[in-house]
Amino acid sequence: MALTPHAFGIAGLLGWPVAHSRSPVIHNHWLARYSIPGRYVLFPVSAEKLSDALRGLAALRMRGCNVTTPHKQTVMPLIDDVDPLAKQIGAVNTIVVQDDGTLRGFNNDGNGFVQSIRDADPAWRPDRGPITVVGAGGAARAVVASLAMQGAREIRVVNRTHARAEELQSLFGPPVTAVRWEAREDALDGIALLANATDQGMSGKPALDLALDRLPAGAIVGDLIYTPRETPLLAAARKRGSLTVNGLGLLLNQARPAFEAWFGVLPEITPDLVRAIEATF
Ligand code: NAP
Repeated sequence: MALTPHAFGIAGLLGWPVAHSRSPVIHNHWLARYSIPGRYVLFPVSAEKLSDALRGLAALRMRGCNVTTPHKQTVMPLIDDVDPLAKQIGAVNTIVVQDDGTLRGFNNDGNGFVQSIRDADPAWRPDRGPITVVGAGGAARAVVASLAMQGAREIRVVNRTHARAEELQSLFGPPVTAVRWEAREDALDGIALLANATDQGMSGKPALDLALDRLPAGAIVGDLIYTPRETPLLAAARKRGSLTVNGLGLLLNQARPAFEAWFGVLPEITPDLVRAIEATF
């Protein structure tokens, strides 16, 4: 939406539940830092109210919103336009209200993950070596799409339900190979990056059932989870000497292009922002 100077800009998060979200801390920090009048707020929206809530975005002259569980897929047919990467992923995590009031959807999760690995190791590139992604749900799809788009040559997708890994293989073609769950440890041979895109290791859930004995010494290990900040997988990888990256990097990096689209400034991830997030744990 056109940025009228000094107009108060509202953006927010549509989901169910939303109370746990750290996004208000991030966006409100940036609004204050760049002296932009506005606010990022949480909107608990149930599935049956999603369509009404979306219609309200333009009517209320909001800049846009993030979308989280359970609406990331169901929102797609309800908005006017979906960016090609989000279409390929099959999910939207960011909506921007355009100048004419129409709604355009994006998905910044995969690029956020890839950028978080680059932030941890600026020399890393998606084509450095084979990559193993564990999981084949919405987040894994976003990560695989971004890795493939950014030049990864070999992505091994391992998922408990093999058919979902095969879906990713047929969707993305040659860089992606579906590996059976039983062979998940074989999939660690020679890799440069391991990514956990399952919910295993999240607080209250069991650890990811994956032994790291075959993980190469120089491999980076990323986990999309950030509660806890160090999952059992990341702790085991760190003890073996791997560089580890938790899901806060994804969260922060997916927020940057959204903030830019809503408020006109590409914001920086600074140590004081990271401290503000850390203070929420
Ligand atoms: P999802 O669509 O529900 O997918 C869940 C995945 O976990 C599936 O691949 C599922 O395998 C796998 N899984 C579940 N239980 C398992 C078990 N017992 N053993 C092995 N695999 C199991 O969820 P999602 O939206 O992709 O999210 C996945 C993770 O990414 C979550 O932890 C989420 O919090 C995180 N995430 C983080 C951010 C961030 O900002 N950092 C953003 C998005 C997502 P099956 O197919 O076999 O069920």
